[in-house]
Amino acid sequence: MRSLPPPATIGILGGGQLARMMVVEARRIGYRTIVLDPGGADAPAAQISDDFVEAALDDGAAARRLAERCDVVTLDTEHIPADVLYELEDACAVRPGGRILALIQDRWEQRTFVARHDVPQPVHALVTSPETLASASAKTGFPCVLKTTRSGYDGKGQARAQDPEELARGWEDLGQPTAVLEEFVDFEREISVLLARGRDGECRFFPVAENVHVDHILHTTRVPARIDSAIESEARSLGSRVAAGLGYHGVMAIELFVTADGRLLLNEIAPRPHNSAHFTLGGCATSQFEQHLRAVCGQPLGDPSPLGACVMLNLLGDLWSEREPDWEAVFRHPLARLHLYGKVEPRPGRKMGHVLVVARDARRAEDEAESVARHLGVASPSTTHRPVTGPTPDPAFG
Ligand code: AMP
Repeated sequence: MRSLPPPATIGILGGGQLARMMVVEARRIGYRTIVLDPGGADAPAAQISDDFVEAALDDGAAARRLAERCDVVTLDTEHIPADVLYELEDACAVRPGGRILALIQDRWEQRTFVARHDVPQPVHALVTSPETLASASAKTGFPCVLKTTRSGYDGKGQARAQDPEELARGWEDLGQPTAVLEEFVDFEREISVLLARGRDGECRFFPVAENVHVDHILHTTRVPARIDSAIESEARSLGSRVAAGLGYHGVMAIELFVTADGRLLLNEIAPRPHNSAHFTLGGCATSQFEQHLRAVCGQPLGDPSPLGACVMLNLLGDLWSEREPDWEAVFRHPLARLHLYGKVEPRPGRKMGHVLVVARDARRAEDEAESVARHLGVASPSTTHRPVTGPTPDPAFG
C-alpha cells in the first residue's frame, strides 16, 4: 500500500455529515479534499472542502474526473454503485473498492459472506417470489423482518410481519424482485464495534458503543456499552474477522444485537465511518475520521482510547418543525458539544446534527445528556432505552 502523507488529495464520494467531519480532520492535518455530491456547494462536506464536484452519486464520468485529481478516493455512503468504483481503480487508490461495495450492497451477499466467516447472525432466508415466502418463514418463524436485498437504510425497505398474511402484504409493499427474510431478534441491546484496519492488517478498536434506535434511526449512543468484558472481547474478535475477511482498509462498523442469553448476532456491516462513532470526535484520543484518513492513506493508526464516558444524542430535522432550536440551551451545559452538519433543509427524520457529552463518569454524562435533551425537546435518552419486548407488534416497524 502506497504511503500518502499530507498534503495528498483525498476524494470523497458523497458529501454528507461523515464526509464533512473527514474534511474537518483532513484540514487540521493538512490533507486536501475534493467532495462529489449532487447537492453541490450546499452539501455539508462541500461547504468546507478545498473543492467539490456537483454530480449524482452514480455519475461515473464525474467520479472519474474527481479521481484523476486525487491520490485516494473514499466514501461517506455505501450507496455508490460498485461499477462506478471499479472504473476509478486505475486512476488512483480507491478505499473501499468496488469488490467490497458490491458485497455490502447486496444484503444476501453480505449474509453469505458473514456465514462463510463463521460470524453468528439472525436466521435468514432468500425470498425470490411470493411462492418462496412460506419456505423462508418456515425457517425464520414469526415474527420476522423482510428486508429488500438492495438500497435499504435506517429501516427503509423493511417490513415486520407477525403472520403469513402480513408477510405477503409486506412483500407486495416492498415490490422488489428479491428480499431477505430474517427472524425478528428480541435483542436486549444493540451495540456497534468500531474499528480501523490499517496498512499491515492490524486492527485498532474504539470502545464498543451501545445504541438506541427510535423508529429505526439512531437516537442515542452510549460509551462504555453496558456489556461485560467477555462480550466486548467477543464483539471485537467478530469485528476483526469481518474486516480481515473483506481485506478492508479504513474505519468500519459492525452492528450487533446482544440477546438476553448473551449471544451476539451481526445485523449489518458499514464499510465507512459510522453515525454511532461520532463520540470519537471529542471522546477519544483519535477520532474515527482521522483514523479513517490515516488508514486509507497508508499511515500508521492513531490511539483510539476513550477520554471519558460519552453520550451522543442525534438531532433530527423534526426538532426544527417550528423554529430553529434553542442552541443556547446546549451551550449552557459545559460538558456538551454541539455539532451541526450545515444541512439546508431540516426534513423530519433527517440527521441534522448531534450533541456529544463527555464526562469523567457515566452517571455525569447521562445526567448532562438528559438535561440537554429536556431543554432542547429531544426525547429523553433514558426513556428511549429499548424495553425487552415479546412478539407484540411494533407500529413503528416497517
Ligand atoms: P437496519 O436498517 O437493518 O440496520 O435496521 C435498523 C434497525 O431496525 C436496527 O438497528 C434494529 O433496531 C431494527 N432491526 C433490524 N433488523 C432486525 C431484526 N432482524 N430483528 C429485530 N430488530 C431488527
